[in-house]
Order: sequence, then structure tokens, then C-alpha cells
Amino acid sequence: MLPPFRLVRPSRLEDALDALGEDSSAYCGGTELLLGMRAGLHRPDALVDVKRLDELAGVALDGETLVIGARETHMDLAVQPLVTEHLPMFARVEHKVGNARVRAQGSVAGNLCFAEPKSDVGTALIAYGASVTLVAAGDQRREVTVQDFIVGPYYAEKEPEELVLDVRVPVPTPGTRAVYLKYQIMERPTLGVALVEDRDAGRTRLVVGAVGEIPAVWDVDAPGDLDPDAVAAEVDPTPDLTGSERYKRHVTAVYVRRAVEALSKVGAR
Ligand SMILES: Cc1cc2nc3c(=O)[nH]c(=O)nc-3n(C[C@H](O)[C@H](O)[C@H](O)COP(=O)(O)OP(=O)(O)OC[C@H]3O[C@@H](n4cnc5c(N)ncnc54)[C@H](O)[C@@H]3O)c2cc1C
Repeated sequence: MLPPFRLVRPSRLEDALDALGEDSSAYCGGTELLLGMRAGLHRPDALVDVKRLDELAGVALDGETLVIGARETHMDLAVQPLVTEHLPMFARVEHKVGNARVRAQGSVAGNLCFAEPKSDVGTALIAYGASVTLVAAGDQRREVTVQDFIVGPYYAEKEPEELVLDVRVPVPTPGTRAVYLKYQIMERPTLGVALVEDRDAGRTRLVVGAVGEIPAVWDVDAPGDLDPDAVAAEVDPTPDLTGSERYKRHVTAVYVRRAVEALSKVGAR
């Protein structure tokens, strides 16, 4: 049973921000929030429904940045034309999030704000060098990289009175190649490996997610500089029902090796 709460359904961003605070929570798809409330882990006095806010919707190009509205769902992003054109790896990740219900209801911002360790979305977005825009009452805005935003398990760099407005991804240069490999035993990923190579800039980023508490990042000049065994030794796996620490290190080495191989076979972007 859900505990009692007040539901606020603003259609203006200012009203939503005024309603947010210590005793209230933003509510988008509810896929994580309502589970937590049903389990008695979270008891906000009010939920502030952000699904009617136009400012949190849509995907658009702003110069060399792709701006993704916070309330966009995984299902919509998987087929959104600007996303499939500029971030095809991210579109494929979104296509494989959870199950059909989670993809239809769950939002990109809800995923990042909940900071569930067994996630793909943050891992992929960090590999692309993405940021989030946060807004508070009085139109106070700040931008935080997704890497800095995901601080710990179930802990994001966000004040209770702040909303995520959008996710900003630098548009990859034409020579960029990207792959994401996911290893999954239960309904959420056990391991996610994102590899993005910007050949024009001579820069490669590897992000290993889901295996530990937060995504781990390596920046190198080229994919060939990555040593899968060294990466596996450096990750900090959480032992659980999906594997021991030793097993997860082994799978990490295997998947990083496969990602480097796969990258050499994919086309640009
Ligand atoms: C069964 C299952 C399987 C899943 N599998 C995967 C998977 O394979 N890969 C993966 O990456 N993820 C997976 N997920 C996670 C899923 O992506 C998230 O549940 C979903 O994206 C959360 O979005 P939501 O809109 O439902 O968030 P909500 O549940 O509405 O909110 C989650 C949290 O974010 C806050 N919040 C929401 N929107 C905002 C905003 N705009 N600004 C500030 N705070 C906000 C809420 O207050 C709450 O704390 C899975 C989840 C489930 C339940």
C-alpha cells in the first residue's frame, strides 16, 4: 500500500519549483519513486508531478549540443530522430532499458536522479560527456556533469528544491565511434561497458557501470591504450546475487576486451 500523500500537478515550472522542498519529491514516471514509497523507504508529504511541464519536454539541437528534456521517456528516446542520428549508441541503450512498462513510463532524469547503481543510462551519458541542467525557484540554474551528478548509490548531486530541467550532450564529431555492451542476468544490468572514441580529437572514454556503486571512468588517447585486465583490477565490484567480486572482475575484463574489438568494427557515430 502507498502511504498517504498530497499530489501537486502544476502546469507552470515556477509553481512546481515553489512546491518542491525537504518534504516533497518530484514525480515523473514513478517507476522507482512509487516502489520506494510502497516499501516504506520514502514518505514525502507531497509528490510534485512534473509530467505536465513543457520546459522538461522535447529534444532539440542548441548549436553543438543535443538538449534532451528531463521528462523524456526511454521508449521515446530510443526512436527520437535527433537521438538516433547523433547518439545511436544511446538510442540502442534506451531501447534495452528494463521492460516495456519501465521504458514507457521511466524518464531519463528519473533514472539519473535515482542513481540506482544497476543502470545503463548514466554510464552511456557519462561516456558522451553529458551534463544535467538543474533549476531552482527564481530561475537559478546550474550545470553539473553526469559524472559528478551520480555521487553514490541512490544519491545524486541535487538539492530537494531543485529539478533537473534537461540533459545536455555535446554532439559527437563525425569521426566518433561508440559501443555499449551490457551483461544482464536479472532484470537490471550486472555490467554495462560504454566506449566512445573521438578520432578527430584523439580521445577515448571508457565507462564501466552497474558492477560497482557508481560508474568508473577511464580517459585515454586511443582504445588500444586500454588494458582490460588493469581495468578489471581497478573496478570496485559489489558482490551480490549476480556474482562474487572475483566473478565480476572477470566479466569486466571480458566485456572491456569485447568492447574494444566491437568498436573497431562499427561505423562512425
Ligand atoms: C524493473 C525495472 C528494470 C529496470 N531496468 C533498467 C535497465 O535495464 N537499465 C537502466 O538504465 N535502468 C533500468 N531501470 C531504471 C529505470 O530507468 C528508472 O526506473 C526510470 O528511468 C526512472 O524514471 P521515472 O521517471 O520513473 O522516475 P521516478 O520514479 O518518477 O523518480 C525517481 C527519482 O527521481 C526524482 N526525479 C524524477 N524526475 C526528476 C526531475 N526532473 N528533477 C528532479 N528529480 C527528479 C524523483 O523525485 C525520484 O527521487 C529499471 C527500473 C525498473 C523498475
